[in-house]
Amino acid sequence: MIHEILPVGMLQCNCSILGDETSREAIVVDPGDEIDQILLILTKHNLRVKAIVITHAHIDHIGGAQKLKAVTAAPVYMNENDAPLYDAIDVQASWLGMAPPERTEIDSPIREGDTLSLGPAELHALHTPGHTQGSVSLWIPVENKLIAGDTLFRDSIGRTDLPGGDTRQILRSIHEKLLTLPEDAVVIPGHGQNTTIGREKRFNPFLRNL
Ligand SMILES: [Zn+2]
Repeated sequence: MIHEILPVGMLQCNCSILGDETSREAIVVDPGDEIDQILLILTKHNLRVKAIVITHAHIDHIGGAQKLKAVTAAPVYMNENDAPLYDAIDVQASWLGMAPPERTEIDSPIREGDTLSLGPAELHALHTPGHTQGSVSLWIPVENKLIAGDTLFRDSIGRTDLPGGDTRQILRSIHEKLLTLPEDAVVIPGHGQNTTIGREKRFNPFLRNL
């Protein structure tokens, strides 16, 4: 599978561009900003976007969704529990001193147990609330990879002090849905460096004493 990770925007959200070498289909996860750069990568690999997946409705992850959808006509997937956050995108923009981005329709909800296919690979949606109520992580078994959004980071976890955040809930999501994945599974967080499930089990200071 083609997998390019592009940190985009002021907050350097990790946008994942996943592509199948045979069908040339692609799934773009979290096109927060810098859609021109994302389009260049798609063109470089001769990929056609079949789905745009939003891990959660914070502006740094969803801000470019409308623009990418306008160019590619691909449907946008997001968990409906984050609809109130997306409705408040103007407020989010004001927190960051940004101009509010144009909004898009959400074409399909993405829920626990939903699967998106990309060539021979399947992306399994895990509902992992706590950073936001609609946060989802994407588990790709054939790649042994987890796209974790802002739920799990190398040496940290998602903040829970913003609207919709819940500390007990994010810890439950991580323990029940993520730490049960293989130890050597690679984790691509929403920001910063990659890690593995095993490394975070051992060293993540937020996951100790539990
Ligand atoms: Zn976030």
